[in-house]
Amino acid sequence: MNRPYQRNIWIFLILLIIILTSCSKESSINDNDWDGIGQNPKVAIFANEIHADSIKKNVLWLQGKNSRFCLNSNRKQIANEIRDKFIRLGYLNTRIDSFFLSDRYSGWQYNVIARLEGNANKGKVYVVGAHYDSKSGDSYANAPGADDNASGVSGVIEIARVFKKNGFVPKYTIEFVTFAAEEIGLFGSADYAGKSVANNVEIVAMLNLDMISYAPGSNPDTWVLNIMNYTNSTDLHTQFVNCGKLYSKLTFINDNSSCNYGDSYSFFRKGYKAVFIIGDVDFDPFYHTVNDLAVNCNYLYCREIVAISCAYLVQENR
Ligand SMILES: [Zn+2]
Repeated sequence: MNRPYQRNIWIFLILLIIILTSCSKESSINDNDWDGIGQNPKVAIFANEIHADSIKKNVLWLQGKNSRFCLNSNRKQIANEIRDKFIRLGYLNTRIDSFFLSDRYSGWQYNVIARLEGNANKGKVYVVGAHYDSKSGDSYANAPGADDNASGVSGVIEIARVFKKNGFVPKYTIEFVTFAAEEIGLFGSADYAGKSVANNVEIVAMLNLDMISYAPGSNPDTWVLNIMNYTNSTDLHTQFVNCGKLYSKLTFINDNSSCNYGDSYSFFRKGYKAVFIIGDVDFDPFYHTVNDLAVNCNYLYCREIVAISCAYLVQENR
């Protein structure tokens, strides 16, 4: 009889039991663990997976187009590349929705729409969107638009990445939309919201991510986020801010003075509830200049905002 050998077996079995027990604890997180006051562990799992690094990577990628001005000839190519990015994440049904501008500016424009269908009611839709076009004093040649609005687009893509990676099946449908031609008159969002009304689509809420990466300093306690609402979306504003207080350290303000100057306004005009999520109260000094560069973005701040948006969508759709 080889006792040392037998002892090893016992040690191995005990270790195995310990490992298996700790694994089953992790996978058994459910709503019963939630006291209804603090973070819901099921929601937090998703929010915690939002990464500053992957947001930064996509901001750099979009900035690399030199200009995303919507009257430039590269606009279709950019829309195709955004579509391909969603497809690579697993959103095989991502589509480009074209529309023709025929007033002051004439030509085709291209919204990009990725869809995650709901399992309880796919007719109800949550929209998280951001415009991908940019603008500067030299729009045709050099409009990097890192904060405005590669940051928002990267936020939308990051939420889509985390949902797919974790196999999230929402209760209602979630559409990830990147809008064209915001800078010359909110045209992409107007087209999307107009078609939604025409097709009787029930949009429950629209989150507009626009300029979400400018915040001076590295102390999260000093970071401020403005959530704008409209006369029909005070309840959505309250829900979103409450979610933000649970899943971030940000301080929230509600200055609605610019609420008509972003894509969420197009949704409000069609009767839908929307919030306009925009960065720091100290307005980005690089706004609409050739210096709106990735190097000036605060990705940890941006991560907080994207994590809140992610948490909100999970909370409302689990
Ligand atoms: Zn913008």
